[in-house]
Parts: sequence; structure tokens; C-alpha cells
Amino acid sequence: MDTQRSAERDRMQDIVSLCKRRGYIFPSSEIYGGVNAVFDYGPLGVEFKNNVKRAWWDAMTRMRDDVVGLDASIIMARRVWQASGHEEVFTDPLVDCTNCKARFRADHVIEEQGNLDVCPNCGQRGTLTEPRRFNLMFKTFMGPVEEDAGLVYLRPETAQGIYVNFLNVQSSMRKRLPFGIAQIGKAFRNEISPGNFTYRMREFEQMELQYFIPPEDEERWYNYWKEQRRQWYLDLGMQPEHLSWHEHGADELAHYARAAVDIYYQFPFGSKEIEGIHDRTDYDLRRHTEFSGKDMSYFDDIEKRRYIPYIIETSVGADRSALAFLCDAYDEEEVKGETRVVLRLSKRLAPIKVAVMPLSKKEDLVALARKVHDGLRPLGLTQYDDTGGNIGKRYRRQDEIGTPYCVTVDFESLEDGQVTIRERDSMTQRRVAIAELRDILSAELA
Ligand code: ATP
Repeated sequence: MDTQRSAERDRMQDIVSLCKRRGYIFPSSEIYGGVNAVFDYGPLGVEFKNNVKRAWWDAMTRMRDDVVGLDASIIMARRVWQASGHEEVFTDPLVDCTNCKARFRADHVIEEQGNLDVCPNCGQRGTLTEPRRFNLMFKTFMGPVEEDAGLVYLRPETAQGIYVNFLNVQSSMRKRLPFGIAQIGKAFRNEISPGNFTYRMREFEQMELQYFIPPEDEERWYNYWKEQRRQWYLDLGMQPEHLSWHEHGADELAHYARAAVDIYYQFPFGSKEIEGIHDRTDYDLRRHTEFSGKDMSYFDDIEKRRYIPYIIETSVGADRSALAFLCDAYDEEEVKGETRVVLRLSKRLAPIKVAVMPLSKKEDLVALARKVHDGLRPLGLTQYDDTGGNIGKRYRRQDEIGTPYCVTVDFESLEDGQVTIRERDSMTQRRVAIAELRDILSAELA
């Protein structure tokens, strides 16, 4: 068991180091020693994460008639967080070790070891303090004076931006229920025990759908969205055996939820939540009606009845799901006595779709390879690589970053107008005419 655990830890370290080495993810402010639980996406990381977000946006908005998009502000009126309950209850129970000064979430310690008797860091008995509530919202001040009247929060979730715009969206878009509003945006949480790379960050992005429904349809839509959301991961190539459900028991339910289920992913550091699907009832719009004095109810002009819509929410971290896709794609295999590292990312998520490489730096080869590369640009992000050196090594570098296809221009290409396509997963190679190359790759990437 211990060897398995340490192999999994090693695997996570391999993924983290690949991310750094190959331009996916860097620690924030690294030259100043870094900021805990804040990360920067490098040139490949930003493309990859954009692809994750685009895949979500397409599935949730563009492929549907019943969902529209929104991009609400990060800073909102303070009353929003009083209405939502965040100012009062968005807290985690915190314990400190009086011996080693380490800080933990009490619920995490209890989950791991059943009680709070021993410090998980230094192993001392009886050194953990009583749990204290700690609010996770970051505060800042609007205006020149740091006074209570100017206090605002950085939003800890994107959902509230959707609720407060419910009437704006519904009336401007003339939407009838059921319909949804989707949003992707930054959220901030002053997490007590961040960690596991980008799994738990203090600044992160969420992709949230709030689906507004008549109260009596709550169960149907809850089940519907559960299935839709699981299928999204499978459609993007995630291995089904790595996904599982975690149904919330009565003691776990958030203050706003009637029912909640998490989608768990089997990370190298354990099976953990990547997405939550919540039946929020009419809690949100009812509270905003109470706190703002603005009637957030909906009038059904066909059925001639007025009610406060119920909401089914699906909420996933862009960073957390991106990390799950990376972990799922990471593979090592033995090829001719050497270890090949390959990111088997879905073609839709791979940051670079095609890499074009001349076999050598000879002038006429380079000129042709550049021309071939320019012809492939419409396929998505492509890369031109004439760094020279062994072509096998260049293929390996592309394998490591998940590029599905390499195209090699060699001396024969100058004679016969053909190039070699080399495929990432199977490593098979085939010759095709340059004139047909774009159509072939475009069909395979589609
Ligand atoms: P956890 O129990 O892990 O703290 P949560 O249940 O509080 O998460 P939600 O409030 O339901 O999470 O947020 C929805 C989604 O947002 C999560 O499933 C996760 O993908 C993402 N998320 C939440 N907190 C973070 C974070 N600190 N870093 C990265 N992603 C996060």
C-alpha cells in the first residue's frame, strides 16, 4: 500500500514538473519565492485551459437553445454576500497546532484520521486547538479610505453574479423557463489548507451554470444535469473508471441546497471533487428578493402563474478540471528500452494541434517546411520546430506536451511533394501529399 502511495505521489511530482518544464503552469511570483496556492499559466497552459473553457462553453451554451452566457463583475455590492449567506456562513473550521504552528481544516483532519487528537504535521498529541470559524472571502476597500463603508469582497463564486442578473437576462433575452445562464470567471477563496498543486487555489476560475426551473420539475432537471455533466468529461476522453459520484448526506449539505452530488475524479493524491451539482431550490432568488426589495419572481404568461424559480446549479473549477484532464492524460511507456512520456490529451484540449518539422536545417527544406506550416495555421495552434537534432527527440518533446500530430518534411518531400504524418498515441507514420495534408488533418482533428 505504501509503495503504491509513494508511486502515486511520484506521479504527481512528475506531472507538476512537466507543467513547469514545458510551459504549462508556473508558481506565481516565483522569483520572489512564490505565493502559496496561486499559479500562472504559461504559453501552453493558457491555450490548454482556454480549450477546456471553450469545450465547456460550447457544450453549455452554443450547442443549446436554452442557455445564454454572462460575464458579471468580480466586485459586487456587499449586500449580495449578506443575502447569499456568505458573510455569515462561508467559513471553514480551522485548527492550529500549538507545537509546530501548522494550520488545518478541522473537517479534513477528521476525514483523514477520525478525530483531532494528533497533529497531522508534527505528530504531537493534544496540540490542536479547538476549531474556530474562518471566513474565506478576501476583503478589499472601494475608494480612497479604508473604512467599513467601502468594504467589498472579491467574489468567492461566480453564481451570485448570475442570480442578481436573473431579471435583466430573462427580460432582455425574452427567455421562458426552463432556461439557464452560464458564466466562466475568476473566484477567490482564502483557503486555510490549500495544496495539491492547482487542485485547491486561492485564486481560481469557475465555470457555472444556473438553470432556472418551475419548482415541480426540480428532480427531473437535477437528474438531467447530473448525466449531462458526467458525459461532458467522457466526451473529452476522460477514463470512466476515474470518475465517481459522491452524494451529499444531510450533514454535508450546504445551507442553500436540498440535494447535492459531486463528481469525483481519481487524482494521484486520492479521489476528490471536481464538480458539484446542486438543487438550490428557490433559496437564492428568494433571498435576493428579501434583501434587495426587488421582486425576483417569474410570471408564466401561458400558465398565468407567478413564482420564484428553483435553480439547479452545476459548478466546476476550470483549473481543477484542467488538472484532472492532465492527470488522466499523463502516461509513461517503455519504447525501445526508453521511457516515453506522453500526454494523451483529447485533440480538442491539446494546446498544439500539429507540429511541423524539417528533417534538417538545410535552406530548401526549411523553406518548404515553413510553407507547409503556414498552410496548416487554420487548424488551430500549430508549432514550427527546426531546432535541429534527432527527429525522434523532437517527436518525444511533442508527445510530452500532448501534440496529436507531427508533420515531417524531408529530402524526399522536395522531390515527391509528400510529407510524413506521425501520430502521437500509436506513433505510426504515413506519407501523404502536401496538397492533401490540410484536409486530412482537419478531418482527423474535427
Ligand atoms: P471543496 O470542498 O473542495 O472546498 P467546494 O465544495 O467548496 O469545494 P464549490 O463551492 O461547490 O466547492 O465550488 C464548485 C467547484 O469550484 C468545485 O467543485 C471546484 O471544482 C471549484 N473550486 C472550489 N474551490 C476551489 C479552489 N480553492 N481551487 C480550485 N478550484 C476550486
